[in-house]
Amino acid sequence: MRKFKCSICGYTYDEDSGLLEKGIARGTRWEDIPQDFVCPMCGAPKTAFAELKETKTVPAHTILEDEHVESLRELTPGELSALCSNLAKGCEKQHLTEAIDSFYQLADYYKSKVPSHSSRNFEDIAEVLKYDLSERYLKANTVAAEKADRGALRALVWSEKVSNMANFLLERYAKEGNSMLENTKLYVCEICGFIYLGNDLPEICPVCKVPNFKISQIGRR
Ligand SMILES: [Zn+2]
Ligand SMILES: [Zn+2]
Repeated sequence: MRKFKCSICGYTYDEDSGLLEKGIARGTRWEDIPQDFVCPMCGAPKTAFAELKETKTVPAHTILEDEHVESLRELTPGELSALCSNLAKGCEKQHLTEAIDSFYQLADYYKSKVPSHSSRNFEDIAEVLKYDLSERYLKANTVAAEKADRGALRALVWSEKVSNMANFLLERYAKEGNSMLENTKLYVCEICGFIYLGNDLPEICPVCKVPNFKISQIGRR
């Protein structure tokens, strides 16, 4: 029988074993699992799963056309703020006390320079995510592979999973609206940005594997 793997966290559904704790009997075929099935580990929808094929060959890398490389540009205040708060978190890991404060101060400074009209509506965010997922990750992965930048490649793997999860949730939001957020909690992993919608927070982040005390609850319902 076949196996289907979650593209976000790697959980694998095996038709042979079923998923007894969710009431799915052994031998249940993937097609026979309800459409509203979500990954028991990370909450990703059924569409996030792909069949595991043993003999899958992946091309070493895709050729990138030069014109597709985004030229270096000045970062916006919002991007600089995010960059500085990430650097502060990196310094926290290394216990660089003074640098932590300085980077947080810089992050706050740049945040104060973000124009107030720059908040995006839901459709704009969905559009940016779709563009990231359809083109930008491919380009970024290609550049990182050409430069043999293992750190960037690893960060991109996480980042793409997190974007995919955000995209799934936005697709659900488009259909369900605010009722999607009723009777459930919302969490964000402080390390990788993974969004978890549900009440039983996994013990570790399904994407970056940090313990769940690094996953913060957002808002209150
Ligand atoms: Zn999953
Ligand atoms: Zn994470």
